[in-house]
Amino acid sequence: MIKNKKINFQGTIISVQPRIRLTRSFDQSSHTYLGFLLRIKGEIVGEEREFTVGIGKATQEKHKFKYHDIIKGKCLSVKNPNLEPVEYYKVSGLETINTSSEQEEPPPWIDNPPTLEEYREREHRRLSKRTYNSKCIPCIWGCCMAVEMIIDQWNPRNKQFRTETFCYGPKSCEFYKSGPNRKVPGRKGMVWEEPDWVDEENTAHRGLNE
Ligand code: SF4
Repeated sequence: MIKNKKINFQGTIISVQPRIRLTRSFDQSSHTYLGFLLRIKGEIVGEEREFTVGIGKATQEKHKFKYHDIIKGKCLSVKNPNLEPVEYYKVSGLETINTSSEQEEPPPWIDNPPTLEEYREREHRRLSKRTYNSKCIPCIWGCCMAVEMIIDQWNPRNKQFRTETFCYGPKSCEFYKSGPNRKVPGRKGMVWEEPDWVDEENTAHRGLNE
């Protein structure tokens, strides 16, 4: 493949979710809001499969992509998959071939996603990876983040990477399952286990059905 040669893709959107990188340093964490993740069922590099494409917030604002829209465009493979929750990014030539007017009784929520500012304001709870994969892929409130863990703050090159799944949705959602507490490795083999009160505190400003 020629380096930096854009790849054509086309397919049906099966989820629009926030595209976020979470940086953890033992018990500290911060978010980088990269834009939106489009999970697409369609064709890329001459292959039929599911794949993920990252777009910026201005592109989402312009196109208002949502579940079951059919789109096409060009993209590049991400340079560092550890730092991105998507396989492809730097999208151009985006076109909507068909806009879906599908509506479903939630959960999952499949309407237009909110802005990144709203996600940030809502905050999240951890979500079981199994529940995310079985129930939450179409939901605008689901999120699979790329996680960068700084193991030793005195040696920032000592890092590990993984993905973690979260829910930004109403706390009353019948599909929700938290899954096990997240464990974060630190210096000299130490491990910090994130307690349940972190999620409770983060989402305390929302009522059960918000
Ligand atoms: S658990 Fe969260 S992400 Fe999953 S369907 Fe419910 S609101 Fe959506």
